[in-house]
Parts: sequence; structure tokens; C-alpha cells
Amino acid sequence: MNANNILKKYFGYDSFRKGQEEIITKIVEKNDTLAIMPTGGGKSICYQISSLMLDGITIVISPLISLMKDQVDSINENGIKAYYINSSLDNFEIQDILNEANMGNVKILYIAPERLKSNEFISQIKNLNISQIAIDEAHCVSQWGHDFRPSYTDIRNFIDIINSNPVVSAFTATATKEVKEDIVKILKLKNPKVYSFGFDRENLSIEVLKGINKKNYILDYVKNNKDKSGIIYCATRKEVESISEILNSNHYDVTKYHGGLNNLERQTNQEDFVYDRKSIMVATNAFGMGIDKPDIRYIIHNNLPSNIEAYYQEIGRAGRDNLDSECILLYDSKDIVLQKYLIESSISNPLRQEDQFKKLKFMNEFVHSVDCYKKYILDYFGQDDFTKCNNCSNCNEDYEVIDRTMDAKKVLSCIYRMKKPYGVNMIIDVLRGSKNKKVFDFNLEKLSTYNIMNDYSKEDLKEFINILLSLKYLEQTNSKFPTVFLNQISIDILKGNMEVLIKQKLKKEIVLEENNSLLDILKGIRMEVARENKVPPYMIFSDISLKDMSIKLPVDEAEFLEINGVGEQKLQKYKDKFLPVINKYIEDNEIDCSFKDEMKIKNIKTTNPKKEKKSDGKKQKAFEFYLNELKTKDFYSVIEEYQIQERTLFNHIFTYFKEYGEIDFDIDFKDLYTDEEQSLILDVIDKIGFEKLRPIKEELEKLNYDIEYPKIQAVIAKEFYIKKK
Ligand code: ADP
Ligand code: MG
Ligand code: ZN
Repeated sequence: MNANNILKKYFGYDSFRKGQEEIITKIVEKNDTLAIMPTGGGKSICYQISSLMLDGITIVISPLISLMKDQVDSINENGIKAYYINSSLDNFEIQDILNEANMGNVKILYIAPERLKSNEFISQIKNLNISQIAIDEAHCVSQWGHDFRPSYTDIRNFIDIINSNPVVSAFTATATKEVKEDIVKILKLKNPKVYSFGFDRENLSIEVLKGINKKNYILDYVKNNKDKSGIIYCATRKEVESISEILNSNHYDVTKYHGGLNNLERQTNQEDFVYDRKSIMVATNAFGMGIDKPDIRYIIHNNLPSNIEAYYQEIGRAGRDNLDSECILLYDSKDIVLQKYLIESSISNPLRQEDQFKKLKFMNEFVHSVDCYKKYILDYFGQDDFTKCNNCSNCNEDYEVIDRTMDAKKVLSCIYRMKKPYGVNMIIDVLRGSKNKKVFDFNLEKLSTYNIMNDYSKEDLKEFINILLSLKYLEQTNSKFPTVFLNQISIDILKGNMEVLIKQKLKKEIVLEENNSLLDILKGIRMEVARENKVPPYMIFSDISLKDMSIKLPVDEAEFLEINGVGEQKLQKYKDKFLPVINKYIEDNEIDCSFKDEMKIKNIKTTNPKKEKKSDGKKQKAFEFYLNELKTKDFYSVIEEYQIQERTLFNHIFTYFKEYGEIDFDIDFKDLYTDEEQSLILDVIDKIGFEKLRPIKEELEKLNYDIEYPKIQAVIAKEFYIKKK
């Protein structure tokens, strides 16, 4: 039977996926083969179908005992005679299987690599007619991989002992050069044919989110994706515990997996997830190898993974059925520190440590990339013909291209002047004119570049330098505390031979006001609670917390957690005191809470972003963006299109005026006020000026006119800010 017929007959599939047929053909020709295919690409079928085309037995070496049973059950279902031998079987069971093998009744035999240490076992099978040794997850053989398994290094010795001269096929999803070379070398593949197939998984979308409240995001996400299966990866056991606990207490079907659980727990939890008894798996990177659940719809990374290989393998677990699936990475710069700590505490060999720091550096570049995220990954794996995926948050969102050559020159010349190698934080300190003792110790305050970027926040400057690093306009060493150095491109920029054009997401500015009457109510509650508990009120909540509540108006647990000073503990203790009051206040005063969505949606999607505004090295601010929109659209269409509030848009108009003086184009407020209202407002303004809104409103009220704020704001804008033609 040929490969196509086998595919149909045993697996029920109509056509091969990319690469499968060639790989099978090569193996059947008895040519050693290394196949690199993305996770979910369909590697198993390659050795399974070739096993049916060769006579004799195929031995599959696979690292995870827990998964062998599933794999074997599923191919038995397909009518292929397969067995596994691992420590879950007793000697009698193993003996039975070997007898079957001797009688020619076994096609595929899965074994764990540890088994290869047993001379007794080897002597029992070395005379079988073994035609293929398939090594799954072959990167486990390499120290440079991310799942090194010492017993994988025994494989070659085992192959040499077998009398029937089997063909060797190796499979992995890891494609870095070192790992590839190691596989060929350590497994001693003979004249191997190496296949490396397009690494893109088109059905996976990639999104990287920075600066958000991770827990709230996750709660929100699972709420909106209730019936879907997904994995939430965390860097530490502690974090796994905490996130699974939060989801659990919010009544989601969640389970967990990490190295601190015992075997039974791990197995049970894994099965709960695979068999859809629990839809959410919260896990460390210990979870997932070999999991072939086809319908995992999302992977959320709560922390930055330690390297691109691990990241791509982890997100690769989504969407094996080729249906659209989402991969979301929640980035926080603290994760870099955490990863460094993990590398230091888990790896002792200095060379391997350095290698891991280098890999972490690439991961950092990845999250700061302003180009297609997939392109970054595929480039990393050596597939350089890929341009754009149109399926990641860098491809899909609207950008403004901003000329930041001046900023780049400031940063680069500062590094140049600092002479000795320093890390990013030190450079930021100098640029922002920090009074940090270290700066003075090294006399860096004397440099002409000291304090030349003091108009930037630390975070913004860090982000900018990270972008330069990611674009390779600047470089960093591969150490735990990397130092930054200039390269040829940096020099070109400094000499003025190259511009630095950077894509920048359009951001909304959110203007929120505190609400004094609610604040008073909240203070009252705080006093009550403080008396009950016999503690001073500030120990319940600080003024800052109360103010924040009066601004953000939290109505449920997730929103309450967003409040400055509200942690798990205070949430549980005080939510029942404060949340009902806030809810009632919102109802009583019919407050429009749509601004909350604005807080959540950080990036504006525009269908047709106008890019005519000159960019003079500064980023375009939200108010500029909106003013641009107002050139062609009336006030209320802009409000509708971007779902913002009236007062927000007025604030943008006022900010623009303050920043640029007169507005030299008309804004269409479309009958926001009547002629009569206009003259009433103007009369009052004549008397008391237009600097403050509230007195104007109160003055009008004294005259018995109730005129809403937007009308007053519109009249002011029209009469005083917009240049009369
Ligand atoms: P991996 O490369 O990660 O080991 P698997 O071998 O587990 O991937 O295959 C992933 C999924 O794709 C499995 O559910 C498998 O049955 C399915 N699959 C493999 N090849 C094909 C094909 N040619 N057509 C349809 N589905 C396939
Ligand atoms: Mg596999
Ligand atoms: Zn993309």
C-alpha cells in the first residue's frame, strides 16, 4: 500500500501536510532523516506511516511515559498494532509484549529512553527484526535544547547493538543551529536528510500586551471565552497556585500542573484537561510536551518565557486542529528579572548559563519588536523569507510612523560618551539627569548628554531603548547584567546617514475626574469600618485608594482589584462594604460607565488613520489624533466612532489649544447649542471669564438656566479657540 492509501485507510485523512510525504519516502528508502516541523505539524504520522511501509518493527523513543498510553491507544483505534513498554508495566506484562514482538505481532513499540540503560532489556530485543528507530522530541538529546534528557544520550549505543541495522528518524520542533547539529552528531545520523519546514502556523494569532493588570486581563479573558479550552503558562509554581486559585474562586473549571505536585495529581489534572472535564489549565512549562489535544483555543503567557524555542513550542500546542487560536503574551519588565533569577538558580554550568542569558536577550527583543512578531520568530529559526503574518498584534494594529532620529541620536551619543560599558538603567539615569550616587561616582553628570532627555519617563525611555535593541540599532552583551554597545548601524545613525523611523501604536488618553460627593460617602464608610475594627481609618484604605475608587467606580471584584491599594486580602475583607455603595451611587446618579471600556481598550483601532500631521520627532499624542479626525468629521461622529465621552473629546480640544494656540480649522459641533444658549453663555463669560467651567454653570443656574457642560464647552471652543475665518 502506498503512503496516501495508508493515510486514508488508517488515519482517515485525505492529504498529507507539508513535508510528511517526502519524509516518509526518505525513511522508507532507509535513509536516516531529521525532520524539523512545528508543534502540531504532524510528526507522528511520519514514523507511523513509514512503519507500516517497512517490514518489521518500529521502535519509537518518546520522553513522556504519561503520554505513551494515549498515543498507543489512539493508534490501536486506527487498527495499528502498537504497544508501549515503560515503568508503569510489570515484568510479566513486558514479557508478554516481547513475546508478541517475537511472533511478529507488533508493528510499533514505544519505549521510554530510561529503558535503554537496562542490559537485560537490550539483550531481549536486539535480535528482533527492527527496521526503524524513531526518536521523538529529539532535541532532548542536546544540552543546548530546553528539555535536555541525559538518557537520550544512550540512544546511539542502543542503535549500534541492534542487529537488524535499522534506519534512524529523528523529530523535533526545535530548529536552532546548535540543537540541529547536536542531534545529528550525538545520534550519529548517517548521511542524514534534514528537512526543515515552514515554521509558520497560520492559524495562531500572536498578541503581546504590555503594562496591563494581568489578573484582571485573565479573568476578563476567560469570562469571554467560557467554553474554550486554554492553557495559562506561568513562570513559577507559586504563580500557578495563585492564578488557579483566583480562577477557582471565580467558579471556572480550572486545573493546574507543575513540578511540585505528585505524580498522581499531575496525571489526574492532565487528564481532566485533556478529557475536557476542566477547560482551563494553569501550568508551568513542565506541562505540555507531547500533549496532542487538538482543540486548545488559547495560550496565555502570564510571564515572559525564557526563550523563543520554549515560547514557540508552548504556543504551538494551540490549534492543532488547524482552527484559529489565540496566543497572548502578557509582558511585564519584572519578568526579565524573574527569568534571570530562574536561570541562575537552575543552571550551574557557566557556559550554559551564558547561553540562556543570550536566549533571554532574544526573547526581550521579541517582545519589543515593532515588526511582525511571527517574522521575528521565524527569522530566529532561520526562515528568512517570511515577511508579514497579518495575524499578530504588530501586523494588525494601526500605527503612526514617527521619526525618532533625534531621540536615537541622544541615546547613542550618550552611550558613546559614557565610554565604558554600562547597562540600560545607568544610561537612562544619565539621560534623565538622575542624582543616583553611581552616576556621580563615575563622573557621568559632567557629560554633555547628562539630563538631555529629562522630559521622558523612565519607562518610556526604557521602552525606546529596548526598541532600538530589538531593531539592532544598538546591541547588548549576553550576560546576566547585559551592557550596551554601539554597532555599525549606531554609528551610521550618529553620523546622520540613517533615519530612525519607528512605528508607534495610537494610544488614547483617558481623562478621568474624581468624584467628590462619592468620595465623601466612601470616607464615611471607611470611618464606620474603622470603628467596627478598632483601627485607624487609614489602615482600612488610604485616601489615595478612596480617590481611586471615586474615579474608577469599581462595581465587581475584578474592578475592585484594579484600585490602587486593593489586594486579595482587602478585596475579600471590604468588598461587601464598598462595592454595594458604589453600585448604588452609580444607579442613583445614572452615571455612564462606558469610560471603563476605554480604560480597557488601550489601543484605538482606526479604519483610516490620517497621517498628514507632521511628525517632528515627537510622538503623536491622542489629542492630536482626535483633532485631526475633527477636521473632517463632526463632533458626534468622532464620539461615536471611538466610543469616547463628550468631556474627553472636549479635553482633547482644550489640550490642543493649550499646546498649539489657535485651532486653524473649523470644528463641526452640529447644533450642539442654540443661538439663545450661546448668547446666555457669552453674557456670563463677559462677566467672569472662561477659564473655569463650574462658575459659569453656577452663574447660569442663578439666572435659572440649566445648561449642560458640553454646551458651555462647545461655545468656549467655538468662540475662543477656533480661529475665525
Ligand atoms: P506533532 O508534530 O506536534 O507531533 P502530531 O503528530 O501530534 O503533531 O499531529 C498533530 C495533529 O495533526 C494530530 O491530531 C494529527 O492527527 C493531525 N494530523 C497529522 N497529519 C495530518 C494530516 N495529513 N491531515 C490531517 N490531520 C493531520
Ligand atoms: Mg509530537
Ligand atoms: Zn505579524
